Amino acid sequence: MIRVTTVPVKTYVGKSKIPGANYVINPYVGCPHKCLYCYAEFMRKFSAHREAWGDFLDVKLCDTPLHPSQLFHQHVMLSSVTDPYNPFEKKYEVTRNILKQLVHCQAYVSVLTKSALVVRDIDLLKQLPTCQVTFSFSTVDETVRKLIEPGTSCTDEKIKALKQLQQAGISTTVMAAPLLPGISDWKEIVRQTAPYVRSFLFDSLNMRGTFQHKLMDFIDVHYPHLLPLYNEIYLQGKRTYWHRLQQEIETYGKENNLDVEVYFGKESSFSFTPISSEESCAPNFPEMDPSQPQLF
Ligand code: SF4
Repeated sequence: MIRVTTVPVKTYVGKSKIPGANYVINPYVGCPHKCLYCYAEFMRKFSAHREAWGDFLDVKLCDTPLHPSQLFHQHVMLSSVTDPYNPFEKKYEVTRNILKQLVHCQAYVSVLTKSALVVRDIDLLKQLPTCQVTFSFSTVDETVRKLIEPGTSCTDEKIKALKQLQQAGISTTVMAAPLLPGISDWKEIVRQTAPYVRSFLFDSLNMRGTFQHKLMDFIDVHYPHLLPLYNEIYLQGKRTYWHRLQQEIETYGKENNLDVEVYFGKESSFSFTPISSEESCAPNFPEMDPSQPQLF
C-alpha cells in the first residue's frame, strides 16, 4: 500500500552538479517502482517518511511557472532521484505539466525512466529543441524484473515504448544498469533493444549503505549459488569480474558496430554531452556522491 501525499513546493527546478546538466527536476519524492538496488533511498532521510522506500510518494505541486529566461537552451534532467513516469503520473500529470513548461522554455531535456508511460508525452517531447529518452534495464527476464524492480513497466512494454519513441524521431538510449553479477544478461538486453536505440551505456551494481544488506539477503534467498561471487566482488573488493565483463562488452560492441560506453567504477556521475537534434546525450552512472543525488 503506497501512501500518496500532495506537497506544495516553491520550485521544481534545482541546480545540477551533474556534468552536462544545468538543472534537474524531480517531480516526486519517493518512487513506487521500488527497485531493490535503488540508491535514491537516501532521500527518505530528507523527508519525514517512516514508510519503506517505495511505499510513499510525495507529489510535488508548484504554482510558480518555469522561466524561459532561466531555462532557454539549458540542459534539464528528468529525473535524478525518482522516476518521472511512476504509475501515479498517469493521474497527477506533474511531469506532463512540467514538460509543457519546458517546451515553452525551449529547454534541452533528458528523460530517464523505466516506464512505458513516457510515450504518453511524445507529443511534447517532439516539440523540444533537443530531447533524449534513456530507458534503463537491469534485466529483460520478467521473472527477475518482478523480483528486483516490481513496480516498473514490463519488458515488452518498455521495448514497445522504445520503438514508439524511435518512430517519433526521439533519440533513445538504453542504459543497461545496474548489471547484477551472474543475474543480468546484458547481451540479451542489447539483443532485444538494439533495433530501437542509438547507443548503450553499461554500469555495474554498486553496493553501499543500507541496501547492501538488503541485496546480500536477496542473493542469499534467491541465488545462493552466487554468494561466493558476490562475496568476492563486494566483500573482498576484487574487480576481476568487472574487468572481464568490460572487455567482453567492448569487444561485442566493436564486433556488432554498436555505440557502447562502459562506466564500471568510473567516478563521474550522470553526465550528458551537449546534445542537438542529430546528436544526443550520453548519460553515465557510476558511484554515488551523497551531495549529488542519482539513481543507480
Ligand atoms: S532505481 Fe529509479 S525507478 Fe527504481 S526505485 Fe529508484 S528511482 Fe525508482
